[in-house]
Amino acid sequence: MTNGKITFVGAGPGAPDLITCRGKAALENADVIIYAGSLVNEQLLELSPQAEKFNSAGMTLEQVIPVMAQAYRDGKSAVRLHTGDPAMYGAVAEQYRELDRLGIPFDVIPGVSSVFAAAAALQTEFTMPGLTQTAILTRDAGRTPVPEPEDLEKLAAHGTTLALFLSVGDMDKLTAKLLNAGRAPETPAAVVYRAGWPNEKIVRGTIADIAGKVHEAGIKRQAIIVVGEVLGRGGEKSSLYGSNFAHGYRVDDHFKGRCAIFALTAAAAHKAAEIAAGLADAAIILPEKLKHLVPATRVRSYPQGGLHQAITAAWDEYDGLVMIMASGIVVRAIAGLCGHKSSDPAVVVCDEQGNYAISLLSGHLGGANRLAVQTARITGGKPVITTASDGRGIMAFDELAATHGWTIENSALLTEISTRILDGEKMDVVLPPELYEKYYTDHSAQFRLSDRVETPCGAVYDGSGTLRLIRRPLVLGIGCRKGVPAQTIAEAVELTGYHTFARVATIEKKLSEPGLIEFAAARALPVQGYSVEELNRAEVPNPSPRAMQEFGVNSVAEAAAILASGNPVLTVEKIKYDGVTVAVGMCKDE
Ligand code: SAH
Repeated sequence: MTNGKITFVGAGPGAPDLITCRGKAALENADVIIYAGSLVNEQLLELSPQAEKFNSAGMTLEQVIPVMAQAYRDGKSAVRLHTGDPAMYGAVAEQYRELDRLGIPFDVIPGVSSVFAAAAALQTEFTMPGLTQTAILTRDAGRTPVPEPEDLEKLAAHGTTLALFLSVGDMDKLTAKLLNAGRAPETPAAVVYRAGWPNEKIVRGTIADIAGKVHEAGIKRQAIIVVGEVLGRGGEKSSLYGSNFAHGYRVDDHFKGRCAIFALTAAAAHKAAEIAAGLADAAIILPEKLKHLVPATRVRSYPQGGLHQAITAAWDEYDGLVMIMASGIVVRAIAGLCGHKSSDPAVVVCDEQGNYAISLLSGHLGGANRLAVQTARITGGKPVITTASDGRGIMAFDELAATHGWTIENSALLTEISTRILDGEKMDVVLPPELYEKYYTDHSAQFRLSDRVETPCGAVYDGSGTLRLIRRPLVLGIGCRKGVPAQTIAEAVELTGYHTFARVATIEKKLSEPGLIEFAAARALPVQGYSVEELNRAEVPNPSPRAMQEFGVNSVAEAAAILASGNPVLTVEKIKYDGVTVAVGMCKDE
């Protein structure tokens, strides 16, 4: 008899239509189902009326494994159905281990974890630019202990989004830990009970009041707790969709024409599908035997031995060809087709891994340089551009601006300038000399240092307009110990890497600090003082226990820099140096 099949399936958070298609198919075909009773929706079991069913709620590991092993030996399909996704608190590792020991193979199909069903119910994103880029999925210690370095108090101190399983039973203890970790009492917090079930309940509040509200709602189990600023509607727009972000699928220098992507192997065909999805208009041209590998809407195929003919046909029909194969094959195939650079299509050669996208033909006029850059961005590889005048990699003024914290005042010109650079046009550039050397020395053929543009920082001149990269004023937040000399403050400021500031900001009590007064006077900087209440209103990345002890504030340097700049994201977070703390904020657009 042939062996059976064992599949672990994530059932999703509860709603029976939140299982994956693959998980559903596995259930439909199951002869045996062992399901985690309390949290798996039994409606799912109706998908397989024929199957023999076991509720694992009443079973031990020693009982569960033999059921699976027997099914396997009997040539049956067994599904082990776990709530949410099996990888989070699913107690699957011990089952995997036992099956390994018995030499029984198995598959795992993921599911929608309740933590993501909770995020959906709350309509929140766990990671938001300007707030946090991290979510910690964890639990508070209960019957199952949590390793000491992962104690909630330690994890909470990071200031990230927190999502907690299995922890709603003792909300008082939990919120006390969050406060001990330095999280502000007004930090938003929410609890989602039975996300995705008909009796789902959402409780929203803050760290200060969520425990009471949860008691009131009578929630004691089966809930996810989410804590963090992301629950507000704050945060910045994601740079992913912003106009200044060079992303594989959204570049400012798009290749505009129609493309054909050729591939000769299965790996290349998959790569072709990836590239095609990121181009505006692309067909995939494959030998007959590979065409099932990519979406039917995109594919065209040719019979065995028909590559040359297919390329010849594509030569006139398409504006760009991306060839995922050895460059030798391409060179031989197109040699006889090459006409004039004004009429030939762009040709880019790419390796199967997508490590390189080589602009082979019609780099400037035909747009192959742009197509190579775009292809490389999609695959995460490098564009290889050999036309003499190209300053590859340095024309990304949006990236240059982002790196230095400048804004592009007239970013509408960015597209045009990037395109012209890729097309080989000469540009005049105005930059501070140290930046010119860093970015432009090797590319003097295309970029000429020019003094034509008046600008506070860096700019490019393209003959028809000026791209202006503007540096916004910086604010220096300072906290210091009593009696610190001005020289020490100057040394601390040096460590920020910035030299020119619009003003200094600190706590009111330090306005009379002699060293600070001397430091500011020497640079003719106005000093602004904030009260304890004002400072505590700022949400800082690195709260300072020392400042709390001394003045009852979360932070001096960071909070003052945030308040004075009106920008919640610091340019330089707190640096401590010899009794001085400094932080730098950049003013928001005036
Ligand atoms: N593997 C599961 C988690 C199992 S541990 C998953 O990925 O979701 C059980 C804990 O998950 C519960 O104590 C609760 O914290 C959470 N949980 C499971 N289903 C839930 C649901 N529908 N709504 C809210 N929390 C849920």
